[in-house]
Amino acid sequence: MTSENPRLRFAPSPTGALHIGGARTALYNWLAARHEGGKLVLRIEDTDRERSIAENVEQILDAMRWLELDWDEGPISQAGRADSHAAALGRLLESGAAYRDAATAKDVEAWKAEHGTRRGYRGTPTEEPGAAVRLRVPDSGETVVEDLIRGPVSFPNTSYDDFVIARGDGTVLYNFAVAIDDAEMGITDVVRGDDHLSNTPKQLLVLAALGHEAPRYAHLPLLHGPDGKKLSKRHGAASVQELRDSGYLPAAVRNYLALLGWGTDDDTTLMPTEELVRRFRVADVGKSAAIFDERKLRWLNGRFMREMPLDEYTAAVARHLGRESDARLRAACEIAQEKAQTLDEVWPLIRFLFEPPVDDEKAWAKVMKADTGALLAAAAEALAAVEPFDPASIESGLAPLLERFEIKPGRLYQPIRVAITGSSVSPGIFESLSVLGREPALDRISTAVERLSASSADG
Ligand code: GLU
Repeated sequence: MTSENPRLRFAPSPTGALHIGGARTALYNWLAARHEGGKLVLRIEDTDRERSIAENVEQILDAMRWLELDWDEGPISQAGRADSHAAALGRLLESGAAYRDAATAKDVEAWKAEHGTRRGYRGTPTEEPGAAVRLRVPDSGETVVEDLIRGPVSFPNTSYDDFVIARGDGTVLYNFAVAIDDAEMGITDVVRGDDHLSNTPKQLLVLAALGHEAPRYAHLPLLHGPDGKKLSKRHGAASVQELRDSGYLPAAVRNYLALLGWGTDDDTTLMPTEELVRRFRVADVGKSAAIFDERKLRWLNGRFMREMPLDEYTAAVARHLGRESDARLRAACEIAQEKAQTLDEVWPLIRFLFEPPVDDEKAWAKVMKADTGALLAAAAEALAAVEPFDPASIESGLAPLLERFEIKPGRLYQPIRVAITGSSVSPGIFESLSVLGREPALDRISTAVERLSASSADG
């Protein structure tokens, strides 16, 4: 990108949620605009009126906001630009670069039978408003897309018929609208998915017919799943909303999506957004399909989660859980921060601090043995005497029991864990006891001891 004032655009069709591929396209445009100090225009390609409902548009804006990708102009409705499209169409008709074609299918068939192609068929020029408008395609030569990522890609003009740019009712077709909008919005760089490469020659022909300078193009290789197939639902979270709901952080998603096809060989490199902005160049995007692997995103997300300042972390957890961000949640977050890779993983780790222990039969059966009641009773006695009730004192209060009973730590701490949380997974046991508090901890341990003696009496 070399122009003085680069102008980029993200141009989603509001056909539903913003998917991961679209989010990466949005991010690359945003990074390029921010890196260059240019502008990002958000254009909603809503000419398909049936699918372009307000709710779909809102979903896209919502996803952009969650990803913290801001735009400088827009959202501009493509459908709202119908007058500009009509004016451009009028100019092409006037110059003769386009013509109304009222030919019937039969006329065209007859022409094709004679010439082997409909190329060159000019139909019966007519002013009749019901006739579709076609752009005259040169009979020879080629149209070359100078793609920033793939290099020059050339398309022989003979592979196109004079193509329709407007329907009989005056509404324009997709490739026409895109070309006009890019030109009139002063877009200097079009960065979009590879699936649009084949549209580009048509857009270039429209631009040339109108005497507009073409923008630079960069077509991004598509995303695949780890199995090498085109990315789909079966590869995990498919939309930005699903990523949010699964407890990913926007910064981690930006990091991971940025590395899908750009940057380093290692797509799990931790890169704060400022660094992405500083280093990102569209020209450095690779040519081959990038692999979206949710496990890598999860791992990166865990790194971001661990490095967040506690207050920020607590606020994110509170938002995700719809809870208040109070002192207890903060204490809970402090002990869970090391362990969770997503916001979703936090609640199962800290739930015991807010609710009675869960009833996990498997965990219970695994750690509660014949002699466990005696161990727990001794642990309760030790815990009653610990002062203050903080992790270090709890540890030194419990440690002597290991020697006394000649057991490994797990034989003591796992039953305590299951007694206070119900589950065999929790934050560190000393921290967990301390945050739970002495009274509730002793209560839960004594409930477990009773349950054990009841079951041994049964047996
Ligand atoms: N509206 C198109 C899409 O959502 C993108 C068009 C473009 O970027 O030129 O796939």
